[in-house]
Amino acid sequence: MNTSLWADQAELGINFPKLGHSLETDICIIGAGFTGLWTAYWLTELAPQLTITILEANFAGFGASGRNGGWFSALFPSDMDKIAMSSDATSAVALQKEMNANVVRSGEVISKLGIDCGWAHEGSLNIARNKAQLNRATAEIAYWRKWGFDGSDYRFIPKSEFENKYRITNQLGAIFTPHCARIQPAKLVKGLVNELTKRGVKIFEQSPVTDFSAHQVTVNGFQVKTNWVVRATEAYTANFKKYKRDVIPVYSLMIATEPMPEAIWDEIGLHGETFADLRHLLIYGQRTADNRFAFGGRGAPYHFASKISPELDRNPKVHTEIRKVLDELFPMIKPFKTTHTWGGPLGIPRDWYARVDFDEVNQIATGGSYVGDGVGTSALAGITIAEKIAGVDSIRQHLPWINRQSKKWEYEPIRWIGANVGLRVMGIADVEERITGKPSVAAQMFSPFIGHV
Ligand SMILES: Cc1cc2nc3c(=O)[nH]c(=O)nc-3n(C[C@H](O)[C@H](O)[C@H](O)COP(=O)(O)OP(=O)(O)OC[C@H]3O[C@@H](n4cnc5c(N)ncnc54)[C@H](O)[C@@H]3O)c2cc1C
Repeated sequence: MNTSLWADQAELGINFPKLGHSLETDICIIGAGFTGLWTAYWLTELAPQLTITILEANFAGFGASGRNGGWFSALFPSDMDKIAMSSDATSAVALQKEMNANVVRSGEVISKLGIDCGWAHEGSLNIARNKAQLNRATAEIAYWRKWGFDGSDYRFIPKSEFENKYRITNQLGAIFTPHCARIQPAKLVKGLVNELTKRGVKIFEQSPVTDFSAHQVTVNGFQVKTNWVVRATEAYTANFKKYKRDVIPVYSLMIATEPMPEAIWDEIGLHGETFADLRHLLIYGQRTADNRFAFGGRGAPYHFASKISPELDRNPKVHTEIRKVLDELFPMIKPFKTTHTWGGPLGIPRDWYARVDFDEVNQIATGGSYVGDGVGTSALAGITIAEKIAGVDSIRQHLPWINRQSKKWEYEPIRWIGANVGLRVMGIADVEERITGKPSVAAQMFSPFIGHV
């Protein structure tokens, strides 16, 4: 079985040789997910004279980049107050504006390269489905206004207007933002890989890096000598002993339905807009380019000692629960089968704050820790890393996600207990709010531990 619906459709798999000799290169990128691929893409644009080698443990798109929900969003996984607290208000606004611009810029690149990945830049809906969620929606709109973003960035669609367009149960209105595109992520991986190959980038698959330091990378028992090392291993970072407590891999799981007829979609009303509701335990969905629902959610447990393994990609209990939630939102789709179930790990740092790091002395760059918002953020990381290496100054070189320090995660078993209690509390909080209509006390108490403050 393949790693996702997307990987099946794009026929992801091994296409490049295993590294079987030592070599020298200007840039050595570890990991062929979006972070590694976008970094390589922007380097070929900004410094075409450099030789670039990508080393991938499995195959390009094996990780979260080939498995995700396909939201190419402008969501940065830390709120503006938290960003401003660690920098200043102007820098926080600049970061969000860059996230918004990043969607447009990446769409232009995808179109210029002719990558057919179902790109639909039609925005995103975050739906309120009980009173507590409605209160959160109102607060969120006020929050964006406080930070200077107007109705062209985030707008509340009242219930009556929403129901003229969409059919989703219990809706009380929704926040709409245009800053999101829907994609088929594995096709984007494939398109970028094809382009990079044409531009002379060397890719080696089944080539797991076991160690690296300044100018030196060890892989399959061979040495790669390089000027810059770029580590782009997100959730898999914990596999390196020296980074064991830097990020925890948390699984997100997804399902896809069979393609559904146009009449069903006319009733539902969705086109290229991605959708979620304002519950605590995240859900996310899209109508795919071939008229399925692809829908996912958190809820799978964190696995002891940051374990990552193919048998954890599928969890029948959680997958059944995810399908139940989808049927609850759209009861008219009950007759249509689930054709695919899958999942994968995403990386969460202790401070729940994505970052790009530059160790300029040793010339080691890192992008990752996107907390589930990595599809767009990895493209911003890629251009930021490429500019640094190419010596190009821009506003991106001064954004407040560069060279941040995060505490490390606790040792086990505290890490396991904390992460899983957090996930349970969020699930309980959603039930509490559905029943009482009031903001969950449990969620408020626990929010400092799950990055909400
Ligand atoms: C189910 C799911 C749904 C998601 N939905 C969304 C979404 O809709 N929108 C969104 O913004 N984000 C989403 N995310 C998160 C997003 O997909 C990731 O944050 C993003 O793809 C990370 O890209 P990356 O290149 O940094 O890491 P990855 O795509 O994980 O790539 C890392 C690569 O490094 C390789 N690797 C690891 N260790 C080594 C080593 N030692 N040597 C060589 N190679 C190595 C891996 O095999 C892998 O291919 C989702 C994640 C999951 C799992």
